[in-house]
Amino acid sequence: MGKRLIIAIDGYSSCGKSTFARLIAKELNYIYIDSGAMYRAVTLFCMRRNYITLTVLNKTGIIDELKDIHIDFVFNPDINEYETFLNSENIENEIRNMAVTSLVSKISQIPEVRERMVELQRQIGVSKGIVMDGRDIGTVVFPDADIKIFMTASVDIRAKRRHNELKNKGVNIEFEEIKRTIIARDIADENRDISPLRRANDALILDNSRMTVEEQMLWINEIIEKKIHGG
Ligand code: C5P
Repeated sequence: MGKRLIIAIDGYSSCGKSTFARLIAKELNYIYIDSGAMYRAVTLFCMRRNYITLTVLNKTGIIDELKDIHIDFVFNPDINEYETFLNSENIENEIRNMAVTSLVSKISQIPEVRERMVELQRQIGVSKGIVMDGRDIGTVVFPDADIKIFMTASVDIRAKRRHNELKNKGVNIEFEEIKRTIIARDIADENRDISPLRRANDALILDNSRMTVEEQMLWINEIIEKKIHGG
């Protein structure tokens, strides 16, 4: 068996990071961790406690309860995917809704929240053989990752993909609203004080605006092959 790698995938919202990361993990038989789901889980927890609304942000309440937030990724053999659990409850679908999506950037800006998430992410990574996607995986969580990818795509293409995805799920949201949310999240993620979204110096850029998933897999497989077997 070849060397087991840590593969870090960072980039903008709705670029297809999780589709890409998931496929890589499946091909290599690695663990896939969606670090965004962890920030979303914390956001949902805080929404339920009314620590965060569009107008309220009770940081003290959030920080006090961080120790009571337990996040797990549990494999569901029926769909052949991992699902996110918050304190033993399956919240995979709920954390993808627009309410969570529009508040998550406020939660992910809180230093204590980030510290806790990074600690959990590093614990999961100790066993290697892992693909993790997010915003700060190659810069902060695993600065020594074996492969670092920074993904990007044009805002219009990202909004269009997201719009189609939601339409297929029966969710009816205006294209312009999705685009606005994507732009707002880009700005928040790039401009926060700690661990802002940025490309690690040694990350390879993948602009998939005009690439199919198959083309992206061919591209990464060549990189992985070299890392595992040299050459
Ligand atoms: O990847 P996803 O869009 O689900 O991430 C949701 C949010 O979580 C991002 O907009 C960002 O604010 C935050 N996040 C982060 N650091 C990560 C992953 C996600 O700050 N590593």
